[in-house]
Amino acid sequence: MEIPFNNTYAQLPERFFAKQVPAQVPEPKLIRINHALASRLSIDSDWLESADGIAVLAGNALAAGSEPISQAYAGHQFGGFVPQLGDGRAILLGEVLDAQGARFDLQLKGSGQTPFSRRGDGKSALGPVIREYIVSEAMFALGVPTTRALAAVATGETVLRQEGMVGGGILTRVAASHIRVGTFQYFHALKDVEALRILADHVIARHYPHASSEQHPYQALLKAVVAAQADLIAHWMSLGFIHGVMNTDNTAVSGETIDYGPCAFMDAFHPQCVFSSIDTKGRYAWGNQASIAFWNLTRLAETLLPLLSEDPGIADEMGKAALADFTDRFSDQYIARFRAKLGLPPEAPVEFIQETLQLLAAQEIDFTLFFRHLTRVAAGDESARLAALFARPEPFAEWLSQWQRLAAPTKHLAAMRASNPILIARNHRVEEAIQSAYREDYAPFNRLIAALAKPYEENAEYTDLEATPRPDEVVHQTFCGT
Ligand code: AMP
Ligand code: MG
Repeated sequence: MEIPFNNTYAQLPERFFAKQVPAQVPEPKLIRINHALASRLSIDSDWLESADGIAVLAGNALAAGSEPISQAYAGHQFGGFVPQLGDGRAILLGEVLDAQGARFDLQLKGSGQTPFSRRGDGKSALGPVIREYIVSEAMFALGVPTTRALAAVATGETVLRQEGMVGGGILTRVAASHIRVGTFQYFHALKDVEALRILADHVIARHYPHASSEQHPYQALLKAVVAAQADLIAHWMSLGFIHGVMNTDNTAVSGETIDYGPCAFMDAFHPQCVFSSIDTKGRYAWGNQASIAFWNLTRLAETLLPLLSEDPGIADEMGKAALADFTDRFSDQYIARFRAKLGLPPEAPVEFIQETLQLLAAQEIDFTLFFRHLTRVAAGDESARLAALFARPEPFAEWLSQWQRLAAPTKHLAAMRASNPILIARNHRVEEAIQSAYREDYAPFNRLIAALAKPYEENAEYTDLEATPRPDEVVHQTFCGT
């Protein structure tokens, strides 16, 4: 078997999914294969690159052992509940195990209509494929839990999007699972408690096996998801990352970042920064992400109530108790990450983090460059380059002397280096890679992927990728027209 499938979700009851074969595409062309990931999953890279392998990645052929399905789920989108969403443009080919026994989904995204497509074409434009490949792999290299990209292909088709007719593509996505808060909501809306129990047991076995030996396994499951999400959001925020569409259907119960649509790493820092053109109220702004995650987790807790206890009062208490862990867990993680970024010792006052962010926000300083240059100062460089980021020098000078008093920089340099990346997937570079890809020039895409694989290392070859966008390069929004 070219892909050593070992499927479990397809063995769940039929109401969990729809069997669905991918659509045929006219002229598949391989754009890129992630060789390291293929080898981790015991998939033969040479075969993947062959005509047979490309046919599988394009959905034109099924590998032996594949049981293609589209998963059913619901979701709150921008606060409004939609009882049936589901994979409208994605097909789960099956699951594979890595050498450690960890289970991963292989999913084609952009492989044609499914029973969940509603009015959509089931396809993906090349741009979003390129964006998800770059940003998800960048997140992985940064150390953030995330779905990954195994391959990208161009389909040879054109698809109609806001910007007109554009080339189509398919991403092969790898995830610990594609089970979302919205998957639980789907069965909750149907009042299908039996399915909820089956789903919860599947998630416990797959992601949180320790929960099965707890006194209250379903509460332990909820606590585990709460912890994973708290850690994830703190990690995102420490990198200036904005997910963009934190709907409950885009919230994976595994704690991985999923569904890279209108997402971005911020350049100029502002806590109310958003990237999505449809997020007009700033619901998913950088600084709102923790409270939105908590809101999403509350929706998950609601679905689990019938499993927590037969007594609604007790169930409610148990749900609330599990959710209550979020605030402390998030703030501990957030503070620890920002302490490390600033090179602060544990006794430094926590208010200094907020003061730093206010300083950055007041002058809209580039988030990544600030911490990058600060790390250099901690390593003994002059502060001139850091100071040059500020148009109004006085507040910075004041801040710097305070920082010098608080931080014993040389002692905490390793932590600073490990938490302040040199390279992030800057939006204008992602945009450049996308526009080039539409012209069948994949060089900027490939170069960006290579550079972002080692985000914490100095590399003279990639200094141009560190820079903030010129005014004409600034991308204010990434679009949902995926
Ligand atoms: P997302 O933007 O990934 O959060 O998608 C929200 C919902 O819309 C999911 O159910 C998707 O499967 C569905 N969807 C998005 N784009 C398409 C498309 N081109 N065709 C069919 N369904 C789509
Ligand atoms: Mg989605």
